[in-house]
Amino acid sequence: MNQRNTPQKIEIRKYLQGNTTHPSAYDIYNRVKKNLPTISFATVYNNLQRMVADKELMELYDGEKKRFDPDHSPHDHFLCLKCKKIYDLPKIIKPSKIKYKNFKVISSVTYINGICEECIKKTGGNDE
Ligand SMILES: [Zn+2]
Ligand SMILES: [Zn+2]
Repeated sequence: MNQRNTPQKIEIRKYLQGNTTHPSAYDIYNRVKKNLPTISFATVYNNLQRMVADKELMELYDGEKKRFDPDHSPHDHFLCLKCKKIYDLPKIIKPSKIKYKNFKVISSVTYINGICEECIKKTGGNDE
C-alpha cells in the first residue's frame, strides 16, 4: 500500500473513513466534488478500483451498482430491496464452518435481502 497518495485519493479516503452507508461511486463522486470541484467521475472511479485492488476497500453490489465499504472487520450485509440501503450485520456464517466437498473457503460475502425498519415504518412492510 505504498501507492502515491494523490489529493483525490486523500479526499476519497477522508469521506469513506468510518462511513457505514456503503456509498456508490456516484455518491462518493458527488461528495468529493464539493472539495475538489475539478475532479471527474472517471478519476473517482479509477481511484476506487485501485483501493479495492489494494484491499483498502471492499466492493459490494446492490443488484444495480457497485458499493464501497471501508470496514474490513468480518461482517455481513442486509440489503433493503426498497431503499437499496446496505446495513452492516454481524457475521452470520463463519467461513471456517462451511464444509463442501474438499473446497477450502477463504472468505465469504453474505447478503441478506429484505426490507429495512425505516421502509417498514413508511409502508407497513406491504409491497406498495
Ligand atoms: Zn429500506
Ligand atoms: Zn459493511
